[in-house]
Parts: sequence; C-alpha cells; structure tokens
Amino acid sequence: MPKKSVMDIDVKDKRVLVRVDFNVPLDQEGGVADDTRIRAALPTIKYLMEQGARVILASHLGRPKGKVDDRYRLNPVAGRLQDLLGREVTKVDDCVGDEPARAIEKMRPGDVLLLENVRFYPEEEKNDPAFASRLAKLADVYVNDAFGTAHRAHASTEGVARVIPGVAGFLMERELEMLGRAVYNPERPFVAILGGAKVSDKIGVIGNLLEKVDTLIIGGGMANTFLRARGYETGKSLLEPDKVELAGELMNKAREKGIEMLLPVDLVVALAVDPDSEQKVMPADQIPPDWMALDIGPESTNIFGKAIRKAGTVLWNGPMGVFEMAPFARGTFEMARALAESGAVTVVGGGDSVAAVKKAGLADKISHISTGGGASLEFLEGKVLPGVAALQDK
Ligand code: ADP
Ligand code: MG
Repeated sequence: MPKKSVMDIDVKDKRVLVRVDFNVPLDQEGGVADDTRIRAALPTIKYLMEQGARVILASHLGRPKGKVDDRYRLNPVAGRLQDLLGREVTKVDDCVGDEPARAIEKMRPGDVLLLENVRFYPEEEKNDPAFASRLAKLADVYVNDAFGTAHRAHASTEGVARVIPGVAGFLMERELEMLGRAVYNPERPFVAILGGAKVSDKIGVIGNLLEKVDTLIIGGGMANTFLRARGYETGKSLLEPDKVELAGELMNKAREKGIEMLLPVDLVVALAVDPDSEQKVMPADQIPPDWMALDIGPESTNIFGKAIRKAGTVLWNGPMGVFEMAPFARGTFEMARALAESGAVTVVGGGDSVAAVKKAGLADKISHISTGGGASLEFLEGKVLPGVAALQDK
C-alpha cells in the first residue's frame, strides 16, 4: 500500500516535525565533511516552507549513546543548512521540553528550526512511548524523510507517528517508489547482481530476490562460498564454510525455478589482500592453494555485462571485489559502467556499492542510488521497515 506524502496533506500554518537524516560525516574540526544528506532533504524542506508550514527538523548524528556529547551537536549542520537554504535556521540545544517549545511558539509560517540530536536521549533508540509523545507534542503532523533510518523503530522514526499523523517526505517517497518498482513490479528481464564480502550478510536478500528475478549474478567475496558448493577449491579466499550447504541449496532452488544464476568463471587472485601482492587471472575452478580471489576476471565481466545489456531492470548490491584497492577494483567499476550504459531501470543499494559507483564517477547515470545502506538491504529482504509502516496509507 503506497504511503501518503507531504503532497497529500494540508500543511499550511501547521507545525510540521520532519525526521531527516542529517547524520553527516564530520571533519577533524567538527565541521560538515560531506553535505550530501543535507542536500537530499532540501526538496522536502523547501516545499514545506513554500506551503507556509513551520518546519521543525529532527535528526540523529553519530553515536552519542544516549548522553549529551558536544561533539555530536547539530550546530555545524544548522550552519550548512542555513547556507544551502539562504535563509535563517534557528537551532535549539534540546529536542524536547521547554526550549524547543518556546522557540516553536515564536515561529512564523515558512520558518525553519533544527532540534538538537535526538540520540542525546537513551529513550530515542528504545522507542520510549513517553519520549515519542514529547516529540509529537511539538508538532501537528510528522513527516519522515529519513529513509536511511527507516529500518529502525526509534522514537523519532516510528513512535512519534503513532501519536500524530505521519506522511513521507520526497526523498522517502522516491526511495520507496524506485526500490519498490525494482523489487515488486520490475521491467523484465529483471537481473540482480549481488556481491560484497559475505553470504551471511545477504542471505535474506538472496532468498527474497530468488522469488522475483530472472537472472541472479553472484560476485565478490560471497561468490567463493557458492564456488565451493560447486566443489571448486577456493584456496585462501574469503570463505564461509558453514554457509556452503546453504549456497548449494540456493543454487538448487534457482535451478528448480528456472532462474539463471551466474557465478564468476574467472577470478583475479593474489597472495595477499595487498595492492602490491603478486596477482594473476585464473579460471574459477583452478584457484591455487595459497592464492585468494579478490576480484572477478575479465571473462566474468563479459558474461555479466551481456546479461545486464539485455535487462529491463538491474538491481545491484555488493561490490564484485576488493574495490578499495585499485588492482582489485576493475570488476566492480566495469559493472558500474555496464549499469550506466544499459537502457534498463538501474537501482544501486548498499553503502559500499554506492561508494563504488560514485568513485567510478557514474552516479548520475544510474536511475536510482539508494541513500540508505541498512534500510535498503532490509527492503530488498522483503521486510517491512517500521518507519515506513507507521506512516499513513494513501
Ligand atoms: P554493500 O555495502 O554495498 O552492501 P558489502 O558491505 O556487503 O557491500 O561488501 C563490501 C565489501 O566487500 C568491500 O569492503 C569489499 O572489499 C569486500 N569484498 C568484495 N569482494 C571481496 C573478496 N573477493 N574478498 C574479500 N572481500 C571482498
Ligand atoms: Mg557495506
């Protein structure tokens, strides 16, 4: 069921509490090192301002562990937001209680106020109902635009929407629409590429996608466990011995369902996880005992690329190799290019995969780059995100 968005409700003159994801990386001096997340929330904030709402912003920053910690105050964020909006942003030093209440009383339509870090209270992550009510008391309606924390049932992401009506912001809406379209209503053929370090991180994703895709491509460290299930030796490669059986079962399931499952046919192997280590390309069934697979090989890239070119929808989560090191980044970057060049609807989720696409300079050629690492994974697992479930249905 689609969720109501800010467009579906009247916000004029209302006090609107907006949960944003301003959990930005900070630099050495405590300044904002990367304002991507602040920029991502601007469409919702600007829309609410233009509609004459009183815009009250709430976010967490870092891990202050339920205590006031000056390193995690949102003051630098307020400064950057003010620059980006070109308009005054009032920052208060608490997120509940008298100080915010007084500041909100003084707000006029179109004003913007930023509350202090909600995680200064342990009640936030505990989703304490009394704390959620204190937050809710500050406003008439609630907007969730923090997709990245929607998989957490916290007071500011879930509890508050039980007290006052909640709707989705534009960023949240786009995430749900694009991820939802890929998983539940894909243009076919639907090709999913899964990679990353471990099978164990992605079992739920593989299981859910096996019900939906036409082709499943497995690369990265987790491919080793699948290759092992085929009976191949994997040398010193990252391997999860206790997941070999499961990998075999997943391969059988794919076969039964008539799903094409592609594993690497060749691999870049090295003697150590070290860019200076000796390296060579080997067929996937011939990894020598002392060597480890750190990237997919050129033939694999070709085969995967062909499947991507034929696709109507491509969903990618998890790098094909240790892309943080240049000698083992080729497979991952080639996949990013294949997505960028395909005419398919392309969706990339997962913190490292998104970082890889950005590093390849191809982010603007992808239909949708998900802003939520953990949240997008849980979405791909088919889970209901509590922060989404709490919002009003259309
Ligand atoms: P995402 O954040 O996109 O979901 P993951 O966190 O699951 O991706 O996996 C990313 C990590 O997997 C990267 O740090 C990368 O170095 C690692 N990785 C990929 N391939 C291998 C491999 N063959 N051996 C060891 N680590 C790998
Ligand atoms: Mg990751």
